[in-house]
Amino acid sequence: MSDHYERVKIELQQMKEVENEAAADVVQLSTASVSPVPADVSFTARRDQSKSSINGRSRSKSRSKADGHERQVNGKQLPDLTPQKSDYSQGQSRVINEPNLHIKGTARLLKGKTAANGHVESCQRQTDVKCEHHGKEAKKRRAVTVDTSKAKTSLEALKMSIRQLKWKEFPMGRRTACDIYWHGVSFHDNENIMSGQVNKFPGMIEMLRKINLSRAVRTMQELFPEEYNFYPRSWILPEEYQLFSSQIRLLKDNDSTLKHTFIVKPDSGSQGDGIYLIRDPADLRVISGSQIKQAVVQEYIQKPLLIDKLKFDIRLYVLVRSLEPLEIYIAKEGLSRFCTEPYQEPSQKNLSHVFMHLTNYSLNVHSGNFVHSDSCSTGSKRTFSSVLYRLASKGVDIKKVWSDIIALVIKTVIALVPELKVYYQADIPLGKPGPTCFQILGFDILLMKNLKPVLLEVNANPSMRIEHEQEVSPGVFEYVPSPVDEEVKVGVIRDTLRLMDPAQRKQHVTSSTGGGSPEEAIVVETGSDEKEGLADSLPSLCLKQVFPKYTKQFNYLRVVERIATIFLRFLGVKGTMRLGPTSFRTFIRNCKLSNSSFSMASVDILYIDITRRWAGMVPDSKEADLCHPVAVSISPRTRPVGPDTPATSSVPVPPVP
Ligand code: ADP
Repeated sequence: MSDHYERVKIELQQMKEVENEAAADVVQLSTASVSPVPADVSFTARRDQSKSSINGRSRSKSRSKADGHERQVNGKQLPDLTPQKSDYSQGQSRVINEPNLHIKGTARLLKGKTAANGHVESCQRQTDVKCEHHGKEAKKRRAVTVDTSKAKTSLEALKMSIRQLKWKEFPMGRRTACDIYWHGVSFHDNENIMSGQVNKFPGMIEMLRKINLSRAVRTMQELFPEEYNFYPRSWILPEEYQLFSSQIRLLKDNDSTLKHTFIVKPDSGSQGDGIYLIRDPADLRVISGSQIKQAVVQEYIQKPLLIDKLKFDIRLYVLVRSLEPLEIYIAKEGLSRFCTEPYQEPSQKNLSHVFMHLTNYSLNVHSGNFVHSDSCSTGSKRTFSSVLYRLASKGVDIKKVWSDIIALVIKTVIALVPELKVYYQADIPLGKPGPTCFQILGFDILLMKNLKPVLLEVNANPSMRIEHEQEVSPGVFEYVPSPVDEEVKVGVIRDTLRLMDPAQRKQHVTSSTGGGSPEEAIVVETGSDEKEGLADSLPSLCLKQVFPKYTKQFNYLRVVERIATIFLRFLGVKGTMRLGPTSFRTFIRNCKLSNSSFSMASVDILYIDITRRWAGMVPDSKEADLCHPVAVSISPRTRPVGPDTPATSSVPVPPVP
């Protein structure tokens, strides 16, 4: 023990030396938890070298992973999915004659023209007329300025949105400050922003890598197993390889008839890149060249809900409008992406059938069966409301489906917030000038056969492209407008901008109580809450606030966030993510945790032990100081959970539309 203590003392001394500014012992005891200002801290993105994928896949062009863009080429039509006519005018599309679901909140089913982000009437003309009226009003006040110079592939949809709002675009940036900065990839796309609002949070890309998302959700699964059973059981590779192997072997030994399938996803992959299915741990491809692959291996959901015998998933857009106070909005319209080969439960024979098992648009577009359609309710990419319409017509309780999805979204964001706050403070330290942030996230959700939603992943940079690549003649590809994408994405961007309008935001912040309304309300008709006091005559928002609106049902889950808040107060050096030994001592002292049997020497030993454990958890971590997730991970492990674990008590949550 004394040897151990001596070693610890030496290590501690070394750490103290490294922690140069910590000598200042600046313990942040400010009560405000997060505030804006950019710092020089940048985060190293972990890279995955893996390029392997399910056999039989074809790729014609390279693409940006960071953006997660979708690509498209022409395909043949499935016999039972009939595309309908559409009408284009100067790159703007109007989808016609579709049966569709009224998604304003009543869950009434209407036949007629397509619902544009929740509006039943033909979208474009109505919006144009309203925009004209809105334009007159807008002239009275200064136009909101938007820097679009870093928007990348979201540029088209962004331009359309700015035009509709009659705001002012700065495509080449601006010398003086803009109100809003639209980045295509990350908060750090432009490092020189000192005011205004940026459409990315620092650390969001890092937090939404597959491993980090898994870690964050699993932490919550340990604390609240039933509430978080919407996420498939997952293991992190390579660190949990042994655990995974032994658990699966045990399952097989107990019941040899059980046929489990697992899906392996490279950590920083997107668009199905490098994903494959396995039935035995021995089939894991752990090493690529000399590199050990970082990946998540996950229980494969074997019984998804099928439409037209095809597996599909849902892409929902979620706006995190602010972290402090937490504000979450969900778009009432989303996309459903369909597989192109009829689904069969996994068997050794079909494990490599990518068009059967993976719903990625970027993969299925290469299938001869892919159906490009101008209609929102047919084809291989449809609106989510058209899927709900189909389900409702078969008697499915779609209100319940929506409320389960809302709960999944809120709980997932709650799992991410603690570390996002740490990233935020590291980049935008308390008390310094800087921008505030908001971000549109892309949630990928699978519905199980029993209609239970399962979280697949969350995209920090969901594709906002509103055109797709099409083979116009053999070998000639062109970008052509994609009506379904435009339908959904322009509404999401435009309404995000409306919610971030500085005038509206000021009004909102001053009137905000910070707490949720006590309502348990289920059905929300378009009305005051959806306009949120917006003084314009544009259509009702397609984004619906779900938090703090439903604070009451979910606030009890925010315990880890409280730990993060304490952690943030003790970050010794501004602009860092690390709690040094001195701050850790102060933390223990202030919390009155030390006493005669838990001396400061023991505190130091604890510090070393925790930092070692953290270093072991994150093999490529260059920082071995006390990191916030460790504090959280010292909770007792409970039983493993996943979507197949039955929920016993679920808090009722209202559906969106
Ligand atoms: P990527 O970022 O590469 O798209 P995803 O996690 O979204 O990775 O997975 C790709 C696709 O694989 C999904 O769209 C879905 O169709 C399928 N998939 C992913 N996870 C599961 C799972 N646990 N069970 C069943 N299908 C899954």
